[in-house]
This record gives sequence, structure tokens and C-alpha cells, in this order.
Amino acid sequence: MSARVDKVTASTRNRFSGVRLDRLVERRDDRAWQAEQLDNGNTRLVPLWRSRCLLQPEDGGMPTAVFVGTDELDQIDTIRPPTLLGSSGRHNYFAVTINDAQRDDLLARYPESRFSDLRLAASGMGGLEAGILAYAKALHYWQHRHTFCGVCGSPNRLLSGGHRMQCANEECNRATFPRIDPAIIVLVTHEGACLLGRQPGWPPKRYSTLAGFVEPGESLEDAVVREVFEEVQVKLKSMHYRSSQPWPFPASAMAGFYAEARNRDYRLDQEIEDVRWLTPGELRGQLEADEIRLPPPVSIAFRLLSDWYEMETGEPLEYVVNAIRRRRRRDR
Ligand SMILES: [Zn+2]
Repeated sequence: MSARVDKVTASTRNRFSGVRLDRLVERRDDRAWQAEQLDNGNTRLVPLWRSRCLLQPEDGGMPTAVFVGTDELDQIDTIRPPTLLGSSGRHNYFAVTINDAQRDDLLARYPESRFSDLRLAASGMGGLEAGILAYAKALHYWQHRHTFCGVCGSPNRLLSGGHRMQCANEECNRATFPRIDPAIIVLVTHEGACLLGRQPGWPPKRYSTLAGFVEPGESLEDAVVREVFEEVQVKLKSMHYRSSQPWPFPASAMAGFYAEARNRDYRLDQEIEDVRWLTPGELRGQLEADEIRLPPPVSIAFRLLSDWYEMETGEPLEYVVNAIRRRRRRDR
């Protein structure tokens, strides 16, 4: 199945996507099987402490995820039910929320490691690891934001291997499932130039694609048209979907589009303080002159831009960005 999916989608190039875990949906309500796995040497636990993941620097400074054996974590029975993520190769993966004492234990066991922000660390990691961490972090966030029933206020119980919450009040009994906030992100182009915008409050010189949350009562395409017009008053002629990305910061799914503008007229609102229409050559020139900086390669914003640049020039934008980085390091 994975080979087929990879061939027909552009999303596999997006960080956190393309994780081919078998999610073992049929095992989510099988508590006996899960208890056996939690006593099994092939099981790997993904520890999460305050939404942070356990990472260890490898040679060259690239971080790797630390997945721990079930015998490496004390008092596993005090952990709220571990969340069944799925299997890959000979390992089954469970996410566990750990307390401060368990955190100290793990840091003593892995003295090089740190509980770190996945967004900052993800670009240098292996794809499977980054995807497992993103999946675990998204469920962890949802579980911690739904401790109580939204209807009657009673505590929620965690069921179905961590994939369902059920109100403990039997009269209410309301079930809740993991929530994702859909957002659109769009690279607007016009006759060979792309539009990049800058929001106040971003890091210096940062320019990126336009993006926003999908509102109730909107299709994804409606949201693209509305966001582009709200932010820069550019009118669109056409659009097409390109790729998507799970983005657990904290709970989004990003749908990436390309859209062609009717013309290059724009007007700024308060959300965007500057925009630039850039041909591939101008983009490269402004990057080399350090007049603009792009979002990190881990983001779908970078990927949309990079895929467009490659379609226009035949060269991946990563080459350009990496060459600039190497030259700056050398000149320093
Ligand atoms: Zn309830």
C-alpha cells in the first residue's frame, strides 16, 4: 500500500507526513492484547513530558528520538492508559504521558538527551521518527485539553487505546474523538512570479506564503479565496490543491494550494505588513543578498515554495538555501 500512496501524492515530501505505521485500529479496544504488549520487549514507548519529546543529539548534531523499552520506565502503572500508536517493523509503539519523577529517571538513564520542542528539532530527524512524534504529540495535546466533558463537566475517561474520551457521568456518556483544526496555506503566483508576505512579529526578514484557518461553513477553496483577499486583497483566477501536512503545533492539518492571481494588484491590511512579487531569479537574488529569509524547510510553506521553484527552474530550492548557509558559515 505504501508504495502506491507514495507514488500518487506530493505530501510525502512534507515533514511529519508519509509515516507508514500500521495504526492497528482493530486493537484499540483490545485491552488484553495491549496489556500483553506493554509487558513485551519489542514494545517502544514514546515519552511525552509537558508536550515535549525526548531527543538525543547524534553525530553532526542531528537529533534522534529516544523511544524507551517498557522496563525502562518506573511506575508504568501510574501512567494514564498508554496510547496505542501502531506498529512498524517488529516494534509496537505506545505514547505515554510521564510525570516529573519519571522525567528525571529517563534523563538519568539518557544523560545526553533532552525534552525538546519538536518543531525546532524536526528538520534534521528521520522521517519515521518525526512522524511518530508528531502523531504522539497531537494525541497528547487533545487528551490534555479534554480532561472534562464539554457538555456536563464530569471527568472524561480515556478509552480505545487513547483514541476516544468518554464522559464518566453515565447519564451523559458523551464520547469525544481527537480534534484537528483544518487550515489552508497557499502560494499565490502570477505569470511566473510568486507572492510572499510578511507579518509583523515574525523573525527579521521572514517572508512566507499566506495561510489561515478554515472557518465553519467554508470549503477549503472558500477559505483560500477569503484569506488571500482579506490579507492582501488579491483576486484569484484559479487554484489547485498540492499537498497537505499534519502540523501538531498545536492541532492543525495544513492543506496546501497553488493559486493564480488575476493580476499583481494588492493592498495590505494589518495582518500583513509587506508583500513581494518575486520571480525565481529575484527570489534567489534576495535570499543571497539576505534581504529576505524563508520559513524553515520543515514547514509546508517552504515545501510549496520549493516545489514551485523546482518546477520553474529545475533546481530544488534546498540547494540554493544550503549553498547560502554554507557560504555564510565560511565567511564568518
Ligand atoms: Zn458529560
